[in-house]
Amino acid sequence: MDLTDALDGNAIAGLLQEIFDTEMTTAVGVCGACGSAAQLAEGVVYLRAPGTILRCRNCGAVLLVVISQHEQNCVDLHGLAALEPR
Ligand SMILES: [Zn+2]
Repeated sequence: MDLTDALDGNAIAGLLQEIFDTEMTTAVGVCGACGSAAQLAEGVVYLRAPGTILRCRNCGAVLLVVISQHEQNCVDLHGLAALEPR
């Protein structure tokens, strides 16, 4: 797998499950930059360092960043205006 290629949100289904302890790819996130609402599975995922990044498919803004360090996941959700698990 080429980690420089963008994937979709399904690529981090397991990671999100680990963090939120629930199925999150079907959760609807609202982009803080453009206001578009979409399931996290529809986002654009980059697995490159530093960390794992989920970007808005509409405008490219960073919605979610996960940094895994010392067996802990640090999650930055500042790019999301709202996040609603389904
Ligand atoms: Zn956006």
